[in-house]
Amino acid sequence: MHYFDAVLRYSETPVTEIHDAACEQAGIRLLVKREDLNHPWVSGNKWWKLKYNLEKLTVKTILTFGGAFSNHIFATAAAAKELGLESIGVIRGERIEPLNHTLTFAEQCGMKLHFISREMYRRKGEPDFIASMKERFGNFFLIPEGGTNSLAVKGCQEFAREKLSHLDFDFLMLPIGTGGTMAGIIAGLEGRRQVLGVSVLKNGGFLSNDIGFLLQNNFGQSYGNWEVLTSYDHGGYAKVTQELLDLVSAMKMKHNLPLDTVYTGKLMSAVLKEAERGRFQRGSTVLALHTGGLQGIGGLS
Ligand SMILES: *Cc1c(COP(=O)(O)O)cnc(C)c1O
Repeated sequence: MHYFDAVLRYSETPVTEIHDAACEQAGIRLLVKREDLNHPWVSGNKWWKLKYNLEKLTVKTILTFGGAFSNHIFATAAAAKELGLESIGVIRGERIEPLNHTLTFAEQCGMKLHFISREMYRRKGEPDFIASMKERFGNFFLIPEGGTNSLAVKGCQEFAREKLSHLDFDFLMLPIGTGGTMAGIIAGLEGRRQVLGVSVLKNGGFLSNDIGFLLQNNFGQSYGNWEVLTSYDHGGYAKVTQELLDLVSAMKMKHNLPLDTVYTGKLMSAVLKEAERGRFQRGSTVLALHTGGLQGIGGLS
């Protein structure tokens, strides 16, 4: 067992079946992998994305980026605290008091929050900016916004291999922000099953390129069994529609399935619509991946 696993105890997560009229009409079985239950704070895909990033650290400080509601900031702050690391969160926009739930939690975990303007935030990848951060905070290991890098993709590959590949399903659906999680999962399934990613960003077409690039870069092949769906963003990142809000509360009431409005609610809206539209052959099983995110905006945890 590695250091990260030992300190950040992983809980095995259940697969539950959802009996919904839309699925019954379409003749498909809908399962949900409740990966949101894998850890109380470092939850869902963020556990897997952080695993290899934090396991082999040679410095005691990590620096990363996010918006004010970022699940990645929340998870990184919690993981750093449990592992005894220093953490710095570079946050987009100005500090607004009182801090919201995400940032309050991050500070309570000991994360130093550093707020920068939106213009500056766009330049956060530039060498000058990173040098100025090193001057200010000393040496650190940098994890990009959203946590996506090769080590994150490797963690998600392991997740798919160990926790998904033996399950019985034909389609896997998951919400995507950067595509890092999806790239790892495609690789972990080794070309088997169909993987459908639901973009939570407006005009998410570019995500297909990003995922193709991550696959080529990390695994030397692009696989053919996946697709990005770009019509379920409900207006864009962190935007909602009444339809989405209604779906999130119906899922909670009818199926006791907690969803957030940024990621997993959009995922479920895509699953049900695609079922209605006849995307899945009758008799097939769709596995929806609950990637977590219940701490954030609109979460019903
Ligand atoms: C961060 C996050 C995602 C997006 O993961 P990517 O690897 O960036 O695509 C999806 N769902 C939840 C709940 C998240 O917190």
